[in-house]
Amino acid sequence: MTQNRSLPASYRRIFCIGCNYAEHIREMGNPPDEQCVIFMKPPECLVTPGTPLRLPRGLGAVHHEVELVVQIGDEGRDIPENLALEHISGFTLGLDMTLRDVQGALRKKGHPWELSKAFEQSAPLGEMIPFDPSRHDLSRVEMTCRVNDELRQQGCTSDMLFSVNRLIAILSRTWTLLPGDLIFTGTPPGVGPVIPGDEISIESPATGVFVWPCV
Ligand code: MN
Repeated sequence: MTQNRSLPASYRRIFCIGCNYAEHIREMGNPPDEQCVIFMKPPECLVTPGTPLRLPRGLGAVHHEVELVVQIGDEGRDIPENLALEHISGFTLGLDMTLRDVQGALRKKGHPWELSKAFEQSAPLGEMIPFDPSRHDLSRVEMTCRVNDELRQQGCTSDMLFSVNRLIAILSRTWTLLPGDLIFTGTPPGVGPVIPGDEISIESPATGVFVWPCV
């Protein structure tokens, strides 16, 4: 099954931010840190709304993490925080699907996270909303994640430890950000497992609702 057919070919790299909400860091039992975690997923992990998610089997718990996602529109290196918004062309919600048991084992060994974070279909992505700084305030995007209509996650980007502007400044010190790059900006508390038969729905007043069935 080809699940990425309808995704624009313009999507490039997927940067992901971990540990960006204090309450989520606490629920994971991690010590607070001065720095956010940065990792990547290949764009082949993206999944359009409504496409069934084939959950990996025999690899332990699969968790949902709802996140604000921003798309880079204008190239930039060493972007200062106060100019960061000018480099954003769109935003939406996405899911940073995570193999939680695998991640725990990798973390214990100090190994990279790809096996737990960059697996097939690990980046369900909502429809991109064109970003208009006069209408949209990315520092106040509310979001929820429901599984079978049960509220699991509720958060607001106002609780981020690292703002979208700051994340763009940090990432652009290491990489030239390019049009089509995506940034998954971290998840609020309430992450939890899904199993085949579940339906994940993520929603924000700013983006509308996006749904994925798990099979
Ligand atoms: Mn995440």
